[in-house]
Amino acid sequence: MQTAACERTVLSIAGSDPSGGAGIQADLKTFTSLGVYGAAAITCLTAQNSMGVLATTPVEPEFVKQQIRLVLEDQSVTQVKTGMIGTAAIAQAITDALDDFTGDLICDPVLKASDGAALLAKNDLVLFMQSLVSRATVLTPNLAELAQLSSLPVCDLASATKAAHSLLDTLPKLEALVLTGGHLNEEAKTVVDHLFLRGERELKHLTATHSRIETANSHGTGCTFASAYAAYRCLGHSHKKSFAQASALVADLLEKSSGLKLGRGNGPLAHYLSNR
Ligand code: PLP
Repeated sequence: MQTAACERTVLSIAGSDPSGGAGIQADLKTFTSLGVYGAAAITCLTAQNSMGVLATTPVEPEFVKQQIRLVLEDQSVTQVKTGMIGTAAIAQAITDALDDFTGDLICDPVLKASDGAALLAKNDLVLFMQSLVSRATVLTPNLAELAQLSSLPVCDLASATKAAHSLLDTLPKLEALVLTGGHLNEEAKTVVDHLFLRGERELKHLTATHSRIETANSHGTGCTFASAYAAYRCLGHSHKKSFAQASALVADLLEKSSGLKLGRGNGPLAHYLSNR
């Protein structure tokens, strides 16, 4: 009997959000809504709902490594997407587990939840940078994360561009950096997302623009963007196309979820509406 080729798979390595809006729950919903098979290795448990993150518990680093190794040994993982990591020891365990992995590593460098709760231990940023971030092929920081990762002040497009270029200069594996524009120029009626791409000769800067959507339901937008990017890459799209499609998907979901009441606070995106 002939063995069939394995289906391409995206592996999410992230925290669990029991409210279903962020973390591995959001990642798996995004993969499924885009028609891509998703696997998930859990780094941390959180106790949270739409009002905020109440507690977090990291998983034993060796156990995180074991989850990843077993999936990689068995399935045809072409993209790995990382989210909440929790501690430097978990970041190192993930980096070790990905030693032989040669596909895309889309790293969403989650440092804090929107209520301010720390999703990476306070003093672990340098080790997180030296292990997982330096292994990433794609980074999807928000404005505050871009400033922290680059150690540069970021307040407008000029300073964000400088910070993005400095990361592309110092991280040799990095092919693309996406900055979603929600917090850049918050008064503007349109939101511009930015893709900084390592070209053959120079760095390229591309944008995707959509209308600003006034909504209380934005929980997990960052997780969804990075997962959509990973899923589009898994479907064979270029960085440019994956960026444009992920940006359009998140804008569409923000719009479609804006009238829903899926919690009393900062509600989630309703991924099930993505195809309607
Ligand atoms: N909880 C988990 C497990 C996450 O991975 C994330 C974001 O990546 C969050 C919470 C934060 O979500 P938000 O920024 O919408 O608060």
